[in-house]
Amino acid sequence: MTHPFYITTPIYYVNDVPHIGHAYTTIAADVLARFYRLRGNDVFFLTGLDEHGQKVQQAATKANIAPQAHCDQLTPQFKNLWKTLMMSHDGFIRTTDSQHQTVVQQFLQTLYDKGLIYQAEYTGWYCTFDERFWTEKDVEGGLCPDCKRPIEQLSESNYFFRMSHYQDRLKAHIQNHPEFIRPASRRNEVLGFLEKPLEDLSISRPKSRLSWGIELPFDSAYVTYVWFDALTNYISALDYLPSSPSRNRYWPATVHLVGKDILTTHAVYWSTMLMALELALPHTIFAHGWWTVNGEKMSKSRGNVVNPNAVVDEFGVDAFRYFLLREVPFGQDGDYSQEALIGRNNSDLANGLGNLLSRTVTLIQRFASGQIPAPVRSTEDEHDRELHAAAEALLQTTLPYHLNPERLEFNRTLEAIWALVQLGNQYIDKTAPWVLAKDPANQERLQTVLYNAAETLRFLCLATAAFMPATAQNMNEQLGLSLNFSHSLLAQKITWGELPVGTTVRKGQSLFPRIEATTRNKEKHIVEQKVEAVKRESKEGTKEEAHKDQANQTGEEQIAIEDFMKVKLKVGKVLEAERVPKSNKLLKLQVDLGSERRQIVAGIGKKYEPEELIGQTIVVVANLKPAKLMGVESQGMVLAAGGKEVLGLLTINEDTAPGSQVK
Ligand SMILES: [Zn+2]
Repeated sequence: MTHPFYITTPIYYVNDVPHIGHAYTTIAADVLARFYRLRGNDVFFLTGLDEHGQKVQQAATKANIAPQAHCDQLTPQFKNLWKTLMMSHDGFIRTTDSQHQTVVQQFLQTLYDKGLIYQAEYTGWYCTFDERFWTEKDVEGGLCPDCKRPIEQLSESNYFFRMSHYQDRLKAHIQNHPEFIRPASRRNEVLGFLEKPLEDLSISRPKSRLSWGIELPFDSAYVTYVWFDALTNYISALDYLPSSPSRNRYWPATVHLVGKDILTTHAVYWSTMLMALELALPHTIFAHGWWTVNGEKMSKSRGNVVNPNAVVDEFGVDAFRYFLLREVPFGQDGDYSQEALIGRNNSDLANGLGNLLSRTVTLIQRFASGQIPAPVRSTEDEHDRELHAAAEALLQTTLPYHLNPERLEFNRTLEAIWALVQLGNQYIDKTAPWVLAKDPANQERLQTVLYNAAETLRFLCLATAAFMPATAQNMNEQLGLSLNFSHSLLAQKITWGELPVGTTVRKGQSLFPRIEATTRNKEKHIVEQKVEAVKRESKEGTKEEAHKDQANQTGEEQIAIEDFMKVKLKVGKVLEAERVPKSNKLLKLQVDLGSERRQIVAGIGKKYEPEELIGQTIVVVANLKPAKLMGVESQGMVLAAGGKEVLGLLTINEDTAPGSQVK
């Protein structure tokens, strides 16, 4: 009943330091795995490590440890990163697993017995770094065409797989199956490659040169070429990593995700291996692009390798997951920069989704006693119908279409989800629940508006669950819902109006705190200076005053009542509130002080949304000299608890007339 969905990432080279490229492929695979599980598919998501080869052997020798111990030491850096990035893989394969090695040897023996592997003397240009031979025509000026390192001429006896036999069959398969290699531009590249005669593939390395590998079952003087070993993982894993052998269940794979640099290896080596083994070919091989960093190629020597752990530490896992899949179409190259990530965080995440959740929960708390009110259908208008239609279309049509393994338009999916976020925010702006709340005659309409805003968020919970699992869970909790994302929630049609009435909402942490981009480092620096200054002052201060007043333990200066009375504090009522453009922190308030109306600019925009403040009774310093903040005049100051971070606004519970004195 449930269709198998088998998705793989490449197995990463254990010797690599995990970077943004590894994170990118694996996050994409995780989103698909989560989405298809929600759809009710029987998903198997595989990732893992490639642990054989010359570079591992060299690094182990250098560290003076056994290659296996070297691999064991490096494995956690990947496993831990996948935990941090909330990966939901079902299997983690290591090519040093004994069960994997057994399957590789079985495959080799089968091909050998069928006469598809033969031994021959081979002379060619060898690149030690890439561990591969190049033909005369590939080589330019004695350098490897791939890594541009010097290569050497090498002659040795090796075993070869008759790959050339399968050239025509492979070409025909690619031509007859447009979904086999995606995107289409990459498919054309592979077809172009197959225009040249396909050579046989060397699948062995003499142990004299490389001993860290899987021994050939028919000649113990050789180990298996790393690619033959590595590619086999996609099938060997199915024989032992799920709880029971499941090769029949999951093979052929639904989609292999690969970087564009290893497309040929998959589309040509792996496909012809499978043909020779009489196994089915994967449904789709999807090649994605590469990431540059601030417009430059990422490399160790440039020192610009992006460490996903550090990004997540600073910005959170979901902002990172969102950025990578939103910023560029999956098949194309993209550029990573902190500025771009911060921009996405602030505009799409904080001002978009975060704001929609925060204001909806606040409005329900303010105007519906914190419980999702019953909608009154007779009060619905075209705004409601637009929202309703957009939400249903998103889950029922748009997501399945773009996330089809042949398309993998993650960026288009997120654009569509964020179109609903925007529509939701516009809906609240247009319907203005805070205005409706002023007139009891609008009570039914108010209920409908609040219900529909919350219902939109339920759809957004389901739509974002695969992309941003932590965020979806947070929204689920704040809305008081009990969605269990490990269930196949999208297996049935999701219909508008199924949000339960009467559920209690719970205001929680803001989903995505805004990040001050340009001032971040500067601020840090300034904070340190201030701390230094305060330390100096308080030292001198305490020495001087200690004998004066034993009770004054803190060293704070004491003032007389007359000094306090100089400050005129008044009760104010917030009439209007809006954000000061280009500022994350500043809100512009219009405050009723009884006899007059004041414009006050307050640095409380990280803590509060403007609409939360309308109607609030607050405390204002009324005799402060006017000042300009970001070009906007402020005629007073509001009182709030907290230091640099605002913790809460001082408000008054009793019904107090604006302009009343506070003392
Ligand atoms: Zn090379």
